[in-house]
Amino acid sequence: MPDLFLFNAGELVTCDGSGGGLGVVEDGAMVVEKGRVAWTGTTRELKRKSLGKALKAVDAGGGLVTPGFVDPHTHLAFAGSREDELERKANGETYVSILESGGGIQKTIRETRNASAKKIAEESAARVGELLANGVTTAEVKTGYGQRTKDELKMIEAVELLKKKSKVELVTTFLGLHATPPEFKDPGDYVDYAVREMLPAVGRVMPRPAFSDCFCEEGIFSTEDCSRFLKASRELGFRLKMHADEFGDSGGASLSAELGCASADHLGHSSPDGVRAMAKGQVTAVLLPGTSLYSSIRYADARDIIEAGCSTALGTDLSPNSWIESPQIVMSLACAGLKMTPAQALLGFTVNAAKAIAREDIGSLKVGSLADFVVHSVPSYRFLPYRVGGSYVERVFKRGQEAFSRTG
Ligand SMILES: [Zn+2]
Repeated sequence: MPDLFLFNAGELVTCDGSGGGLGVVEDGAMVVEKGRVAWTGTTRELKRKSLGKALKAVDAGGGLVTPGFVDPHTHLAFAGSREDELERKANGETYVSILESGGGIQKTIRETRNASAKKIAEESAARVGELLANGVTTAEVKTGYGQRTKDELKMIEAVELLKKKSKVELVTTFLGLHATPPEFKDPGDYVDYAVREMLPAVGRVMPRPAFSDCFCEEGIFSTEDCSRFLKASRELGFRLKMHADEFGDSGGASLSAELGCASADHLGHSSPDGVRAMAKGQVTAVLLPGTSLYSSIRYADARDIIEAGCSTALGTDLSPNSWIESPQIVMSLACAGLKMTPAQALLGFTVNAAKAIAREDIGSLKVGSLADFVVHSVPSYRFLPYRVGGSYVERVFKRGQEAFSRTG
């Protein structure tokens, strides 16, 4: 017996690559078996198939049904907060100047180092709950607020604790090079330590498949530092990711292609050559317009990146710097700020986001995919980026099981 029949979807958007990519089925229906998509079509076809009974029938009520959103870039595991920074930024300070004065990431490193794994998990669980209520069924979570072996291990432990309680599937990334911690004067000395001590220790405990990530930016970590760290990560079996070209063109996009990264993220200042190299190397571009908004920095040239042939994803970059838990808001920013179309924005939070974390079984509702899906209260995907804020998410299903309902 199937787990579930879904019917009466105003639009069932499968994101399976058909019909120009989105695969929109009007008056859509779906059958779920053993937690996976077994069939999709129209409600009329479903009725004609007379499949008999399912354990559960879901009437979408004419609402839009999409794949569960995949958030491919978050820093959601941390302790404390940085609400004071909005005022500092309003008074002319920048992300980098706040960091240099011991604020920014340095403040979060202090607060996270001072918290237990249990405390970090408790604080972060509320953020995971918000992501779920906003339609996210899988989220990547970076470490990076420990920046010394015992505290990075503690962050991994915190994410493992979160995984046990979360209905959102979490994928861990070791962000070994995030900021040079205060006990090191020279970033190069810290990179030596990260490669020699932290990486092997993390590599022993990190659940696989795992990603390794670095912050490649002039004045933070150089392309040489990042190359050395990521090559050492690869030797230990990690897949690679990079924060690249957020504040300036440091050559991060090209390096991501050279090293075969799964994704390069931010890309506000990447050169056309760097973007072409990414397209050729099949590196997914992850764009984070919420961070551009918070830090008053340039939006990525999304249209050029898409035209160059890069698979282009969106993420929240949920962090103490840019506390955003809503893909819907990020899709609005993507359309208004990056000039992406609503279709590109939706593909960015589904199938393309899944590519950024090297997953083929999520992000679409093609037959065989995990039955992670969202029922929205509007009839068409075009509504999603149209409304800034609020939420249209009515019900969220993970592997065919209801994980969230707005009506409780
Ligand atoms: Zn980030």
